[in-house]
Amino acid sequence: MNVLVLNCGSSSIKYQLLNMDTEATLLAKGIVEKIGLACGSFTYKPEGKEKSVIEQPIPDHSAGMDLILKALVDPRNGVLGSLAEINAVGHRVAHGGEYFSESVRVTPDAKEKIRALSEIAPLHNPANLKGIETMERLLPSVPQVAVFDTSFHQTLPEKAYVYGIPYEYYEKYGVRRYGFHGTSHKFVAEKACRLLGWNIAEKKIITCHLGNGASITAIQGGKSVDTSMGFTPVAGLVMGTRAGDLDLGALLYVCEKEGYDLAQANTFINKQSGVQGISGVSSDFRELWSAVEVGNKRAGLALDVFSYNVKKYIGAYAAALNGVDLVIFTGGIGENDQPIREAVCEDMDFFGIRIDKQLNASIKGKDTVISTADSRTKVMVISTDEELVIAMDTVRLSK
Ligand code: ADP
Repeated sequence: MNVLVLNCGSSSIKYQLLNMDTEATLLAKGIVEKIGLACGSFTYKPEGKEKSVIEQPIPDHSAGMDLILKALVDPRNGVLGSLAEINAVGHRVAHGGEYFSESVRVTPDAKEKIRALSEIAPLHNPANLKGIETMERLLPSVPQVAVFDTSFHQTLPEKAYVYGIPYEYYEKYGVRRYGFHGTSHKFVAEKACRLLGWNIAEKKIITCHLGNGASITAIQGGKSVDTSMGFTPVAGLVMGTRAGDLDLGALLYVCEKEGYDLAQANTFINKQSGVQGISGVSSDFRELWSAVEVGNKRAGLALDVFSYNVKKYIGAYAAALNGVDLVIFTGGIGENDQPIREAVCEDMDFFGIRIDKQLNASIKGKDTVISTADSRTKVMVISTDEELVIAMDTVRLSK
């Protein structure tokens, strides 16, 4: 069974084609970028063959999807004989609100709900829906599945999702904590337990998904019980360009001083803040470390702020869980940035966390335990694979 996995943003489409017959096998992947701009770009990488990049205007999502489908069946470097070999399509959908606590087969009702949620996810849900409707047009007889970033967190207890604002705003507008990156948190927790031979139902786990967007989740008995992102993905940790937790009074003060309107305030907290905003150098951790090497103090400060934030959330969630059996690092930073992992785990003996510094420094791209043998809490690095989760759910729900 071949599954096309799509992640549609407002101006981009990331895609992967996987064969799910026995083990999941990647057949091709790539990205359509700068949709709607004067010059768009289309990248296509068939497994085991050369990558190609085409630069041309791509007026809308439909044109982008057309490029993807044509490339997949191209006689020269395609990976399919015909489009009939695509058996199902899985879509990453940002916001499932309180409607979706798991992935679903796309139906008119599901689409209506995704559309209604555009109100609270205006940057993502409209693009996700566009992806779904375009695929319905291009591949009308193929089942489609929606996998939500929020659904894993629908198990949060009320005390963890209600904000300290008038309750009527929850009732009227659905303002509450939803949380994101759910597919990743669930996937790495389950994978780690499988590797350790543990029963997840008995364990307390803290998963740290550290990428451009970053979030931490407390998992008890396999269920999300708290998570750092909130109503939107700007909450929680200091991220690449997002502010994370911020005194709301400070936000109002800066907006007043700078004369920001709502759109500018949005850019300020989502695009100009985080480690980028602190350092003035970059949102990319590799570039921050290079800057540190040549003596840039603010790049060093940004990295310190980031790891201190992660550490504090681990502490908070250990309290929420009344202990922790396993801490997991994942995402581009969690999987690759060993000094950040070391800084987060430094001086955490109180929680029974001790990592083997040499092991931590030497692992590359492997799912590995990095805590010492006598560490009460296990610490692991686990590679995430959100596309695989989407493909697996798509297979399950399209049969
Ligand atoms: P997203 O999917 O949210 O865009 P990723 O999970 O791909 O993000 O993570 C991107 C981040 O991972 C970037 O900040 C990048 O600097 C960091 N990263 C990737 N590889 C490395 C590495 N080898 N060392 C340090 N940081 C890395």
